[in-house]
Amino acid sequence: MNKLIVANWKLNPLTLKEAEGLAEKINQVSPHEVVLCPPIAFLPLVKYLHLGAQDVSPQVKGAYTGQISASHLSSLGVKYCIVGHSERRTMGERDELINQKLQALLHFKITPILCVGYGTAVSQDELEVTDVLGSQLTADLEDIDPKKVIVAYEPVWAIGSGRPATPEHAEQIALYITTKFGVKSVLYGGSVNSTNSESFLSQHHVGGLLVGGASLLPDDFNKIIG
Ligand code: PEP
Repeated sequence: MNKLIVANWKLNPLTLKEAEGLAEKINQVSPHEVVLCPPIAFLPLVKYLHLGAQDVSPQVKGAYTGQISASHLSSLGVKYCIVGHSERRTMGERDELINQKLQALLHFKITPILCVGYGTAVSQDELEVTDVLGSQLTADLEDIDPKKVIVAYEPVWAIGSGRPATPEHAEQIALYITTKFGVKSVLYGGSVNSTNSESFLSQHHVGGLLVGGASLLPDDFNKIIG
């Protein structure tokens, strides 16, 4: 079944040459829809069918030095944009700001990939997880049409740690988010690699993957996208 696989390159690689080289090594043909999200400076120059941004300004135009507008992304033909990644939430990004970013993206018909997660310990129980996710999603999606939003469920402890959630846990949470919030689809992210990707993709309610570290390794990433 066709799913969505999103590569979050974060602040990598360091040069345009490396970024172009990395994109060239990623297979263009996949049974899934594959989106590369390079650093914003490289976005207009990297060649790949589907490109996404890693963040956007809540404002569309005006005196906001250094910001990237949803209008800029739209004029580059960008189709997707990650919003509310845990690394940005750690830098102080709050749900109200995330909500404004979602509004700006939807105004320009860019599909947001809204990241939600929870806590720092693996031991948190299921009830606590859905409590935290529920309050993040309620605030983030206020006055937003949920059917236009893709959610990426990323437990904070699983990101970049080499300790993924279990596919069964990802499935349960994807089912919870889809049923309770009516979003377009739910991706899983957190230490996905070429060995475990299929076990997540085969879950019925998991609509795809958000991949960080492994998306910088072309051989691994090509195995993930099939
Ligand atoms: C991420 O940063 O969104 C992510 C999922 O990273 P990693 O795959 O490296 O855990």
